[in-house]
Amino acid sequence: MSGAPERPLIQYLLDRSESAEVAFTYLDCTGGRDAEPRDLTWAELTRQVRAVASRLRRVAAPGDRIALVVPQDLNYVVGFLAALYAGVVAVPLFAPEVRSHRRRLISALDDCQARVWLTSRSAFDKVTEFTTSTPVTPPDQLLCVEDLLLPAEDPGLLLPEEGGERVAYLQYTSGSTREPAGAVITHRALTASAWQVAGAYQVDDRTTCAGWIPFFHDMGLIQLMCVPVFSGARSVFLQPLEFIRRPVRWLRQLSDYPDVFTAAPNFAFDHVISAVPAFARRSFDLGKVRVALNGSEPIRPATVRAFAEAFAPCGFRPEAHRPSYGLAEATVYVSSAGDDGPTITTFDRDALAAGAAVPAETGTELVSVGRPFGQEVRIVDTKTGETCPDGRMGEIQVRGPHLAQGYWRQPERSAETFADGWLRTGDLGVVHDGQLYITGRIKDLIIVDGRNLYPQDIEETVAGAHPAIRRDRVAAFGIADERGEGVVVLAEPVRDQQVDFAQVSRAVRAAVSAQHEVTLRDFQLLPAEDGGVPRTSSGKVARSAAKARYEAR
Ligand code: ATP
Ligand code: MG
Repeated sequence: MSGAPERPLIQYLLDRSESAEVAFTYLDCTGGRDAEPRDLTWAELTRQVRAVASRLRRVAAPGDRIALVVPQDLNYVVGFLAALYAGVVAVPLFAPEVRSHRRRLISALDDCQARVWLTSRSAFDKVTEFTTSTPVTPPDQLLCVEDLLLPAEDPGLLLPEEGGERVAYLQYTSGSTREPAGAVITHRALTASAWQVAGAYQVDDRTTCAGWIPFFHDMGLIQLMCVPVFSGARSVFLQPLEFIRRPVRWLRQLSDYPDVFTAAPNFAFDHVISAVPAFARRSFDLGKVRVALNGSEPIRPATVRAFAEAFAPCGFRPEAHRPSYGLAEATVYVSSAGDDGPTITTFDRDALAAGAAVPAETGTELVSVGRPFGQEVRIVDTKTGETCPDGRMGEIQVRGPHLAQGYWRQPERSAETFADGWLRTGDLGVVHDGQLYITGRIKDLIIVDGRNLYPQDIEETVAGAHPAIRRDRVAAFGIADERGEGVVVLAEPVRDQQVDFAQVSRAVRAAVSAQHEVTLRDFQLLPAEDGGVPRTSSGKVARSAAKARYEAR
């Protein structure tokens, strides 16, 4: 139906086992280096993957989980592909480098129950320390990828023919609305997803897949690792932290390679604008960026405009910005803007509050996430279960060859989410003029006096209400008490600045009341030193965690 190919991803790797072209380039920023390239050719990659796979087969049987707690370098690529090749279930996680992400790591490791963990020599001590200093069940075996690179004893090792339905890996969700859940991704879904992404953004062996987003996140795993293997594109990647430390490294990457396909969440586009001053931007040539995918969190119209303006002098084409939508339960990709770039539409605010998208002169601006590729999308009225006509808001549901089998060890939730072949995304959206718009998450929707209020809308207003508030560190949620449903906003103040709370609070309350016709039930500033506004390891605001913290106070 979709036309997706069904060969396991690893077959595409084997197709290139003789190629001396560079497949993966890791830009090493460790130990004082600044983006020193470390290359791996297709031939060498295949050799290493075979070697590691045959070693993994000795310590794990098909179906066993192998957790990747590897830093984001070439060892990660080899380890992940080797796990696929060995027919075990890979669990792409991360080395316990950032303390604040440890909770997520522990929760995923405990959930997947991997007896074998794969790491690298550079992280071995840290991983060992992690197993002794945190309440995590330690593995039976902790192996370093480098120690497994002996010649393969079983060069004929191959996935069996029925490989398609086999589980390839567990993709943990970001944890925006709950503890991260492991989406069970089959070999078939993985290939379908890589095919969708390659098709939607026209990636082939001339493309450079460049960026720094984490391999443990669905977008990083597919964009920087699996699409290159599928399409023969070259991958050039950095560690996520090295981008956060020096955002200019991303620009250099985009400037240095041909036919670039990059991807990042909205906050990163803002970050690079504010962190790299105009004079420093001038030395970069962004004319070769064919696709700059913006996805995984709400896309701000202001970001799309500011990025186009800030980087026009570097040759950045506004059409290259490609707002996109996806989720772990669909391996990653659902829809994206096409070659003509972003579409921003203003919708009437009252109509949106009543569940209809009506274009208007003034109101709420939304960035479209375009059209799906290689799958079906429908909007469903969650009350009646009927498919909504265009212009009517409902739950976004997705069907296609790329859906996860379910959630790891959660049969009930799997049955609810993946009923009758359609994935219930939990996201609200509307189709207008043939394009999909995301309006929020069902769980986060705040309903006051029968009116729908969208938290990200209120958060945007709050972030703009006073300069003392940190953008992207604002959480709005609904609470129910004897007075009915009310809106609470928690915000983080900018660092190192004296803040007059009364003044900020007045500005925030006035702005929210003027823009959204609702009186805030409560507004609080949470300084970063006291934990701030809870966020996921991929940087999204975790509203339900914020609400839980608020209610427990
Ligand atoms: P969890 O499911 O654990 O609560 P999560 O949903 O954030 O976390 P992911 O699968 O990584 O985990 O993220 C997918 C979600 O991100 C989507 O369901 C949607 O809510 C949001 N999202 C992705 N792209 C966009 C976008 N372009 N605009 C708005 N929201 C988006
Ligand atoms: Mg989700």
